[in-house]
Amino acid sequence: MQKNIIKLEHPRNYHMVGDGFRVTNYVPGYHSDMNESTSPFLMLDYNAPWHIPPQLNHRPGVGFHPHRGFETVTIVYSGEIEHQDTAWNGWVIGADEVQWMTAWSGLLHNEFMTKKFSSEGWTQHAVQLWVNLPQKYKMTNPEYQALTRDNIPEVEFEWWKVRVIAGKLWDISGAARTFSPIELYDIRFDSVSRFDFAIPEDYTTMVLVTEWSVVINEKSLWNGDMIHFSKTWEGISVSSAGNAKILVMAGKPLWENISHYGPFVMNTPQEIEQAFVDLRAGMMWKLDN
Ligand code: MN
Repeated sequence: MQKNIIKLEHPRNYHMVGDGFRVTNYVPGYHSDMNESTSPFLMLDYNAPWHIPPQLNHRPGVGFHPHRGFETVTIVYSGEIEHQDTAWNGWVIGADEVQWMTAWSGLLHNEFMTKKFSSEGWTQHAVQLWVNLPQKYKMTNPEYQALTRDNIPEVEFEWWKVRVIAGKLWDISGAARTFSPIELYDIRFDSVSRFDFAIPEDYTTMVLVTEWSVVINEKSLWNGDMIHFSKTWEGISVSSAGNAKILVMAGKPLWENISHYGPFVMNTPQEIEQAFVDLRAGMMWKLDN
């Protein structure tokens, strides 16, 4: 049986993250607070294709800021995002690459376009997804996984392919290590085709259209449309009339309290206060907190 679509969102508002990311926020949604309804996902920002003109001695982006208690997953379709943090030296996330950063007990990082991207001008197209960590994993040492073009496994058919970023599709395991069950698929169609797959019925399941148009469980969707499925049934059927891309995000809910403030996501207000104390004490500047 096919899953039911319980919410469809069209891209409406934009806001800037620093001066480098022009995003629409789908989770938790404008004027909404992070909550359990989308668990384990906390936040989803989509930077639809956006052309940045050549910059003179300036790199658009967002400066140093902290994170604690969850993971930031940055999926780049077009562009080059250079990342620096207080635990490692940094890395460039290029087109079709993913950075899976586990903030754990805390770190500071920045995210800027590369010098080359900035000086030549380019199209920025990316997703940032925040994945919550189970309580027992929130306070270990930060870590990141650089998922490059070559190490994201693909399930390939004649007219479509699935890039398995996390989870497992049939017998193909995804590239990322996760701390709760998560399925993250970047699905790409080249021509008229149809792909049917299943996600367990008790999972939170969301799909974002990241290029052109598809029909999912009888509903026509365009780039920037986002759907949420109910936690009933398993089937998802995607048809495309040509080129299209979608991002499937699914995960088993954690069912744990969420307490958050800005870049910190913990389980209690006391832990949020502690995060500010630790930040001021400089504890997020070191690898071994
Ligand atoms: Mn960040």
